[in-house]
Amino acid sequence: MKKTMETIVSLCKRRGFLFQSSEIYGGLNGFWDYGPLGVELKRNVREAWWSEMITSHDDILVPEGAPRAFSMVGVETSIIMHPQVWKCSGHYDLFHDEMVDCRECKSRFRADHISTSECPLKPSKHPGEHDACSLTDPREFNLMFKTYVGALSGEEGAAFLRPETAQGMFVNFKNVLDSARVKVPFGIAQIGKSFRNEITPRNFTFRSREFEQMEMEFFCHPDESRQWYQYWRDRRHQWYVKLGIGSDNLQLRDHDADELSHYSVGTADIEYAFPFLDENEYGELEGVAHRGNFDLRSHSEGKLIKQNDELVVETDSDGNPKYRGSGKDLTYFDDQSRERYIPHVIEPAAGADRATLAFICEAYREDEQPDDKGKMQKRVYMQFHPKLAPVKVAVFPLIKKEGMPEKAAEIYRELKQAGIVTVYSQQGAIGRRYRQQDEIGTPYCLTIDGETANDECVTIRDRDSLEQTRIPVKEIVSEISNRLRG
Ligand code: ATP
Repeated sequence: MKKTMETIVSLCKRRGFLFQSSEIYGGLNGFWDYGPLGVELKRNVREAWWSEMITSHDDILVPEGAPRAFSMVGVETSIIMHPQVWKCSGHYDLFHDEMVDCRECKSRFRADHISTSECPLKPSKHPGEHDACSLTDPREFNLMFKTYVGALSGEEGAAFLRPETAQGMFVNFKNVLDSARVKVPFGIAQIGKSFRNEITPRNFTFRSREFEQMEMEFFCHPDESRQWYQYWRDRRHQWYVKLGIGSDNLQLRDHDADELSHYSVGTADIEYAFPFLDENEYGELEGVAHRGNFDLRSHSEGKLIKQNDELVVETDSDGNPKYRGSGKDLTYFDDQSRERYIPHVIEPAAGADRATLAFICEAYREDEQPDDKGKMQKRVYMQFHPKLAPVKVAVFPLIKKEGMPEKAAEIYRELKQAGIVTVYSQQGAIGRRYRQQDEIGTPYCLTIDGETANDECVTIRDRDSLEQTRIPVKEIVSEISNRLRG
């Protein structure tokens, strides 16, 4: 079955996963809203990441493949930061894309996307080959959204919406070290909104102007940094596999030397074969980068540049730092080895919206199943991992009488009280109700029938295997909780 973006986008809108932002006014390009089911799905994606990184992390155990045990803590930092942060991080000077305009159709797009499937001028969408178009020379365009803080509307009040959450962790390195009493190696994680004024937002939520990131900065000893880089690269890849992304559609790609950012010693992308891409093309879900000590040094000494393979503070024509750092000591002192050093950083940087979109695309399935009258009908179902499914259980009375609705309502409430996202429905034929739940990816349906009053059991139906078994009413919550944990 070939999945198309058209069917996926239409399901997302029809069932309330995603809507265009400000749709009643014609929408705003690059901005999206999550509907009632989308918000639950994305919340589960965030929760799965936060649990992996923070709440389920064991500070004492040495995880398989890791050089040693380590600590993990979380932060939530502000979207608008001191403008100097972006000067020292390099974003002020370097965070730009090159844009070109097509003189014929007046479209504008990213120079490096002109020959990929992101190009709006693909022959199918544009009369004539885009290669033959008359394009303007590329011009630089900074992707940071500018705003003004307070009553000052001039350059003194100018600030930026953060284009990544990572800097919030670097500038708080000392605060975390002093307050959480963690020792290197440790990681600081954050989930939050980032903003990039993308030239050509496209492909549904894949490239948006407002999006959410899930980033972690892992601080380690320079001599161990390559081992940690390998560890995080492999572990992050496995996270997507564990949550149901098929290995056929996922790849871990190491960057070539010429693709590396100005600071990076090594970077690998975790990529997904989104249906909007051509065959054998992949889109980035997450980048895992070895950033060396670039960020901590820059925030201490001033913006760094590479000179003869060494990182040195960039200077102006008078020999002063081009952008001053904080001047704060961002070194780490190891009280056992008595060594003082600037930790190296490994950064797994994921997008919550891109991951959510990949889970949606991966989950989409079609098959044929007999309806209530035994006639074969097409079935659309979302094969979400139970941890990610927006609704976990649907409770149905088989018919609207003989005490079945009352019993079903009781079970519905018990599941809700246990914190399990549950819906109740008594409208329509039972087969139709199953299909409605399949289409939103509900893994389990419970049906209360005429027998329930006698045997105190209900039927549980599995979305994927369609298997129906009877379970005692008093075991419902524990049975569902076990299945969700698995
Ligand atoms: P791309 O090359 O696709 O523009 P990037 O390499 O600039 O992405 P990073 O700076 O590494 O992206 O950001 C980390 C993650 O944040 C990305 O892997 C992606 O999941 C997410 N992300 C980045 N830009 C966007 C965007 N415009 N819309 C949605 N998610 C994004």
